[in-house]
Order: sequence, then structure tokens, then C-alpha cells
Amino acid sequence: ANQPELGKQVRAADRAHVFHSWSAQDLIDPLPVAGAEGSYFWDFEGNRYLDFSSQLVNVNIGHQHPKVVAAIQEQAARLCTISPVMANDVRGEAAALVAGHAPDGLEHVLFTNSGAEAVENAIRMARLHTGRVKVLAPYRSYHGATSTAIAATGDPRRIANEAAGHADPHVRHFFGPYLYRSAFNATTEAQECERALAHLEQVITLEGPATIAALIMETVVGGSGLHVPPDGYLAGVRDLCDRHGIVMIADEVMAGFGRTGAWFALDHWNVTPDLITFAKGVNSGYVPLGGVIISGPIFDTFRERPYPGGLTYSGHPLACAAAVATIRAMEDEKTVENAAHIGTDVLAPALRDLKARHQVIGDVRGLGVFWALELVRDPETREPLVPYAAAGAQARPIQQLVSDCRSQGLWILANGNRLHITPPCTVTPEEIAEGLTAIDTALTALN
Ligand code: PLP
Repeated sequence: ANQPELGKQVRAADRAHVFHSWSAQDLIDPLPVAGAEGSYFWDFEGNRYLDFSSQLVNVNIGHQHPKVVAAIQEQAARLCTISPVMANDVRGEAAALVAGHAPDGLEHVLFTNSGAEAVENAIRMARLHTGRVKVLAPYRSYHGATSTAIAATGDPRRIANEAAGHADPHVRHFFGPYLYRSAFNATTEAQECERALAHLEQVITLEGPATIAALIMETVVGGSGLHVPPDGYLAGVRDLCDRHGIVMIADEVMAGFGRTGAWFALDHWNVTPDLITFAKGVNSGYVPLGGVIISGPIFDTFRERPYPGGLTYSGHPLACAAAVATIRAMEDEKTVENAAHIGTDVLAPALRDLKARHQVIGDVRGLGVFWALELVRDPETREPLVPYAAAGAQARPIQQLVSDCRSQGLWILANGNRLHITPPCTVTPEEIAEGLTAIDTALTALN
């Protein structure tokens, strides 16, 4: 597309009337986007970007997948909307497909329109099921921007909301495993796992087990750190929850639907939580959709007792038709297998190589198409390239890298002192090579 005048109009209308989330309105300059396909999107001035962000880590199947586009078009022609009170064919089919990829015993789905609503409802279910109120969540986490979800969030996005009185006051935070900056002086993954579990057990004891309704955690922590749990950690958390009657909620909003090279990140460790929250990759965000997958005992709580929650658009037919087409296309085209292959055979070795050549890369971690480069001023002291919760001028070095990548046609997101590498699950080895070349160049310019 080369229509700069149209691009100017799009920008002007945006600046005149659109209020942007997470932003100081005068300090942003949103890119007018003309179109997208596969791993790329483009603006109105003829610039094409390789999308290493999958937008907000949701376009797992790539942009404009023809089968998903067709399914939305067909559903729109057939039935655009119908109340959640009714039974609907694509809603039932989407629920069956979602539950079919979850561990046995989680057979029912409450649909929402977003990840935050999924988290709100999962915690509500846990509170009603247990009759307890408190919730535990790791510091390094993001669970959404509504009242309970933002309170469960441990990362800096929580702080301004707490200060404004917008956060549910019943959440307590704990340290999850993070070997590179161990809170427990651990030097091996096994030690980190054991000590993180001992710490969590103390938190439970000191908070009072009988007051804790739920423990919510991202199976693989995404936006707030990219932390892959050490083997044994999730099983240990499951065991602590069982011993204390705490509902275990696995937040798979970002990690689910192929991102880690498995349908759910849980599959890597064979752990069965009581509730799973999902959104994003379930239909790659072509139409907003999220939900909660519910285990038998929690479902039983609401057999005779009404569930006090709902949404006008719960199980919206357009969103569910998109989910059915997305999941079937991912099955047929082996998209999840591709994400696993790219992670193991392409990204892991290439990122190790990049780290060997750039001192600024302190740590590389991830799996599937879900990776982060943690950047440091000094590999010995591990001083972060930018401080925790850096804003404004403090964040400039990492922003410089991001804008260098963008000027080379690579769209990449940074969070804290990390560059996040999260292309679509359909990405090819050639596209990975193209993106890493741009990162390599930007890192060289920084040194
Ligand atoms: N949970 C996790 C793990 C997420 O990464 C996100 C969003 O990034 C959410 C919940 C919130 O999802 P949404 O933005 O759809 O409300």
C-alpha cells in the first residue's frame, strides 16, 4: 500500500478521537496500519513490518488466515449474534474443541470476551466454591486490567491502580522461580524450584491456609518476564493447593494455543489445575474471545446453585466460529508442531549464538515461539539495562533498540529490560533469520 494521504487521514482521526490504553495521550504516535498477512503487516507509506510481537502476543495463526476469515464471513451471513441464554451450534463446538485440548476432567467452558474477564470469573468461581476470599499470585505476572485481575497482577501495571483504589484488596503476592535473579540464592534450577516451593508454603502458612480461595499463576510467565517454570515447580504448586484446599488457576491467556509449542503450556509438565483461563490464541483475536475451562468439582458447585456472573456477549457466535476455524486449521496445518520445531531447532540455537556475540544479553529464556532476551549493563553484576519499572528517560536504551528494529522493518515489543520475541506460531525459519538479523544489527549499534 502506498497511499500516504490516506495514512495521514487515519492518523488525524485517531489523534482527534481515539483514547489509547496504557498511554499518556500526548506522548504516543500510533502507526496507521493498512493491512496484514501471515507474519507481516504494513502501513500506508509502503513500509512492511515483520511481526515479532504477534500484535499483543495473540495472532498465533498469523494475520488474515483465509480459513478463519471465511468462517467469520460465513457465520456473519448466517447468524451474527444470539444471547448466551440460547444454545448455539458454533458455541457448543468451540467449547468442545477448547475442552478437548485441556487435561481430562476439565470439560465445561464459560466464554468471556477477554483474558481479564476470564481471570475475574475464574477467581469468582474459586471464591464461591471455597467460601474463602484471599488470592495468591506471583509478583512477576500480568493477569489483566480489571479490578481483581489487576490486583492479581504483580508487575508495575498494578501499582498505579492500587494507588487509585481500583484494585481488589484481597490479593497477596509471592516470588516465583527466576534463577537468573534468584530471590533464594539458588544456583541450579533444582535448587530454585525447591526453595521457591518452600517460600510459597511459608506464604500460605503465614497468610492462613483457610483464608485462601485461589492461587493464580501463568503457566509460563509472559509479558512480565518470560519465566519457564523449572521441572517439578507446577507439580509442587498443585500439591500445596491440594493440601490446603486452594483452587489452582492456570492462566494460559498468553501461553495457551500453541505459543509454547504445545496446545496448553501445562502439557509440558502434565499438571492438571482446577481452572484454566484462556483468550488471545484461541482464535488469534480475530474476534474478541476468552474463557474459563472448569473442572468437575467446581462445575458441581453450580449444578443447583446459580452462578452469579455473566456477559451479554458470552459465547458470541462470530468469536466462536473464529475459534472453531482457528483450532481446526491449527490441527490440520500442524501449527503447534511448527511452533515447537521453531523453538527447539531454530530459535534456541540462534538466540544462544546471539548471546555469545553480545555482552548486553544477560539471559535468554523461552520455548516454542515465546522467548525473551534479558539485557544488562554488565554481565558480571547483572545490572539491568534499564531499572525495574523504568519510565521516560530511564527507559531510553531499550526504546532505542525497539526503534532501531522498527526502522529495519521488524516490529518487536520490549518490557522492562527485555526484548520479547513472540512471532506467530506459523513463522518460518527464513522469517526468524530476517528478524534476528535486525536484532543483531540493533544490538551492535547499542554496544
Ligand atoms: N492473562 C495473561 C497471562 C495475559 O498475558 C493477559 C494479556 O496480556 C491477560 C490475562 C489479559 O487479557 P486481556 O488483555 O484480553 O484482558
